[in-house]
Amino acid sequence: MGQNVSAPAAFGTASSIADAVAARDRSAADVVEEHLARIAEHDENVNAYNLVTADAARESAAALDERLDAGEEPGPLAGVPVAIKDNMCMRGVPTTCSSKILEGWKPPYTATVVERLVEAGAIVTGKTNLDEFAMGSSTENSAFVTTSNPYDLDRVPGGSSGGSAAAVAAGFSPISLGSDTGGSIRQPASFCGLVGVKPTYGAVSRYGLIAFASSLDQIGPFATNVADAATVYEVTSGHRDGDPQLDSTLAPQASLAVSSKLSAGVDGLRVGIVKEMAGEVIEGLAPDVLARMRAAADALAAAGAIVEEVSVPATIYGLPAYYMIAPAEASSNLARFDGVRYGLREDGANTAAMNTASRTAGFGDEVKRRIMLGTYALSAGYRDAFYGKAQQIRTRIIEDFDAAYANFDVLLSPTAPSTAFPIGDKSADPMAMYLNDVFTIPSNLAGHPAISVPFGHGDDDLPIGVQILAPLMGEVVMFQVAAELERAAAAAEVTP
Ligand code: GLN
Repeated sequence: MGQNVSAPAAFGTASSIADAVAARDRSAADVVEEHLARIAEHDENVNAYNLVTADAARESAAALDERLDAGEEPGPLAGVPVAIKDNMCMRGVPTTCSSKILEGWKPPYTATVVERLVEAGAIVTGKTNLDEFAMGSSTENSAFVTTSNPYDLDRVPGGSSGGSAAAVAAGFSPISLGSDTGGSIRQPASFCGLVGVKPTYGAVSRYGLIAFASSLDQIGPFATNVADAATVYEVTSGHRDGDPQLDSTLAPQASLAVSSKLSAGVDGLRVGIVKEMAGEVIEGLAPDVLARMRAAADALAAAGAIVEEVSVPATIYGLPAYYMIAPAEASSNLARFDGVRYGLREDGANTAAMNTASRTAGFGDEVKRRIMLGTYALSAGYRDAFYGKAQQIRTRIIEDFDAAYANFDVLLSPTAPSTAFPIGDKSADPMAMYLNDVFTIPSNLAGHPAISVPFGHGDDDLPIGVQILAPLMGEVVMFQVAAELERAAAAAEVTP
């Protein structure tokens, strides 16, 4: 086993930090210094960050302390360090998507989520590593460096938001943001012993998130506990009166008050175990992971929930449908990286040759594979057979989920088929890598919210997460059940 440098909430949870800063027991400057010192000590082994924005963080913290001294109301995240996945824009700060093609590019605007966090008092400490353009499940597809899992430095943190997950698990930051197109928040959360949330599609603005697959992408939090994840969800989600509508797919409603029911319990709630994801239909689920999911179901039943199995048949086609739809959208979204408008340019004899040379040099293998797959799936003569068919499956998945939610408040499944695997284990086999997302993808295709909550360890002593799925805009009940699961994990002393 590799070295273990995990220390989630090393300097307190987000809420304990915000309380202490609001009460002026701790200064934001001190909080930031502690976290920067830990990054300086351990990130050379973890490699969570593409960029540590230490100077800007110090300036923001000092400015916040001054404003608090002057009597300003502290926000709900006052003085809380936050790490941002490096596919979200911050004005003037290099944003790379862990790709060579964006080399040197500095966005001229800031993502809405980042603005919201900063307004709430959070301090951005850096941009985190990811699989190039968020395509992958291990962070090994970064063009720069592979991030390690803080629980075992020889293992992957998951992906694609592996840097954001590792930053929180290593105690570099109590919270972070990731993006989830097919599981990229929930799977790394499971691998790193964290809470990870994929909100309802349209609950959180995507303005300033560099697009991978626009109909699937959502931004969401990593945290060490459910309450902190709920706070970040509330701060970042929803549309506010007077806000410009910068993301046309953002639901025009206010943020859901997901913190309101965290202590409500689950008495009488109906929880469905998705049969297809419980080892019966979809193969490749590790027995220790299945056992933890069953234990979670038992814990919810013991707390008063009505737990039964339910079939959601079309979910078994989620993976193939996703690997048509996501690459199709990516092939279109990534056409903008042409050597003219952003980052890297390789010279060529004419414009077309320059475009080709820039894209050849700038994109890694997995991104090229997706562009080719997606272009093929959309091409004349094949579009109906591939892309069109995948969209029909997507509709079937939504219908099957709707049928299940007629009888259940939430659904339960494993988050990922296994615990964190060794670095290098799957990097040569794209199919093996894709299979990591078999349980998370259906929620993206349906646009539904889902959360991964840590619930014990595998035979290898590494963290295991359990996934709670909820219907469209079902975040309140989703967080409610997540909080119960967290209490059960603490009572059984199985928290990471
Ligand atoms: N691992 C999946 C993929 O490679 C999902 C990635 C994501 O959610 N961004 O596409």
